[in-house]
Amino acid sequence: MKIGKLGIMGGTFDPIHYGHLVAAEMARSEFNLSKVLFIPTGIPPHKNRSDISAGELRLEMVKRAIQDNPDFTCSALEIERQGPSYTVDTLRILSRDWPEHELFFITGTDALREIFSWREAEEILTLIQFIGAARPGFDASDFLEQVQQEHPDSLEKIHYLEVPALAISSTDIRYRVKHCQPIRYLLPEPVRLFIQEHNLYRSSAKSKM
Ligand code: NAP
Repeated sequence: MKIGKLGIMGGTFDPIHYGHLVAAEMARSEFNLSKVLFIPTGIPPHKNRSDISAGELRLEMVKRAIQDNPDFTCSALEIERQGPSYTVDTLRILSRDWPEHELFFITGTDALREIFSWREAEEILTLIQFIGAARPGFDASDFLEQVQQEHPDSLEKIHYLEVPALAISSTDIRYRVKHCQPIRYLLPEPVRLFIQEHNLYRSSAKSKM
């Protein structure tokens, strides 16, 4: 029997910002989640590795961002694992470690749109439900219509949450740093200071830790 609900916040978080934190908090409240576990992606299966900051740096920024919220925690599971970070592998571990919890995977709508192409997508949908954190104005109707036609059993496992704070984006923050524009108030101050201290996003060659 399931006695609680766990949110799993999956993303690259390069860097984490207030949009992610508001999305996690809204999902926690809306879906009655007892905790939200942030899991920065290790080696994303769908991305060019050289475009992304080292996992240890992204994890450290997540730690600093969530340090004052007892409902938020983070895991190095994907950062520490060798090879590409397939979500199905992560979810198998989490469903073993949290057997009494229903699992909700929270992520961006672009990623969610692609879930049926992820490794072992059918298996994933037996393990969890999805919450798509949508930027303002996002329209999920065509995707949901496609799910209705092609994967009708999965429809009830896909939810959306509009998060106005997701007007903030990691891409924009990286651009701003590179072009010496301010990023204060877009992300927690300890994360902004970490970016400054480690000279992240200044050039196109990403920092390694
Ligand atoms: P992404 O391409 O970096 O991000 C796609 C979009 O979603 C971006 O606009 C991003 O905004 C936003 N986003 C990402 N994570 C978010 C979150 N947790 N909450 C709100 N918005 C979010 O996507 P990704 O981060 O690499 O992948 C998302 C998750 O899906 C990861 O956990 C990844 O491992 C998983 N995934 C798994 C597979 C697989 O198993 N085959 C394939 C693809 C993705 P920002 O840039 O502002 O964050």
